Amino acid sequence: MRVDVSTLFGKIIKGDRVALGQALTLVESERHDDRIDSIQLLELCHQHLSTRNKSFRFTISGSPGVGKSTLIEQLGLKAIEEGHKVGVITIDPTSSISQGSILGDKSRMTNLSLSPSAFVRSSSAGSLLGGIGRRSFEMMFLLESIGFDIILLETVGVGQSEHIAWKLTDGFVLVLQPGGGDELQGIKRGITELADIIVINKSDGSLLEASKISKSHYQNAVHYLTPLRENWQPKILMVSALEGNGMHEFWDVLRLYMDSMAKTDQFDIERNRQNQFWLSWSLGITAHQLLLNHPTIQQKLNDGLSHIENHSASMFKAEYDIEEIMKSLIDSTGSNKN
Ligand code: GDP
Repeated sequence: MRVDVSTLFGKIIKGDRVALGQALTLVESERHDDRIDSIQLLELCHQHLSTRNKSFRFTISGSPGVGKSTLIEQLGLKAIEEGHKVGVITIDPTSSISQGSILGDKSRMTNLSLSPSAFVRSSSAGSLLGGIGRRSFEMMFLLESIGFDIILLETVGVGQSEHIAWKLTDGFVLVLQPGGGDELQGIKRGITELADIIVINKSDGSLLEASKISKSHYQNAVHYLTPLRENWQPKILMVSALEGNGMHEFWDVLRLYMDSMAKTDQFDIERNRQNQFWLSWSLGITAHQLLLNHPTIQQKLNDGLSHIENHSASMFKAEYDIEEIMKSLIDSTGSNKN
């Protein structure tokens, strides 16, 4: 059943949480009817946002198990104490990695979810995208437009998704845990250079000493990196989300970061870049889906895969043949319109 978009919008700006859940589901839906309604809703949000202050959107990235959700819960509660409204989008990479969910069915961020000043929403990554959701950006935008002024996008650090999340948010927090391997992984995968803030979580108990060593490794590593932001030198913090140690400092650093971005026109420039990047990125996915789902292309792709299997043609020839068909499909669409 089609929704009445104006009524839905009226409800979400009044703080109706059930309606907000419905609105986010609508925005995530790829059904044609839903896309039409979703764009109408996002347009209303766009008009509404232009009359409001914008939020800060942070990526919180890190491997599964480093303590991101524990940290986000504590951070979110702290931000609420300071008078903010917190929106959280978590990405469940289930379908892209294995049949089973990495996140499992454990309850996540229960206290934060219960707060009337927070909204926590899980979003599926889909097979194409790894650690970022197809409509995460729209979901952040929707939350922002109705007054959530701190938005946290939790990603699981799969493949290229950190780079995309970096380009779609205002700040990037990399969460690590102390000890072997993990810090080197971050450096090797080039994620460290994206981080505005590196949080070494689990800096407690028997891990405290290892955490100090990790901190000094990172301090050295960051020293040799060229900062990606004009007004900000990356900061490295030791935190225990479980025990609460260092959370105060973490919040202070985030606030410092937000202040330093807000002071200059850098924030608006970055937002324009994010919007432009999103348009190209999103259209790239749409083009990919539209073309690969086209029956002729699908048929030719299956033929190509068979040719490779029975050695009757090379993958290069298969790719070229399909490329030519794609071009002719696009050309014929163009000439039909003219
Ligand atoms: P995520 O997969 O990155 O979201 O990690 P979770 O927040 O689910 O935490 C994974 C595990 O690490 C859980 O058992 C947490 O209780 C534990 N954990 C999270 N933060 C801390 C911390 O600061 N110290 C310790 N010792 N354990 C933590």
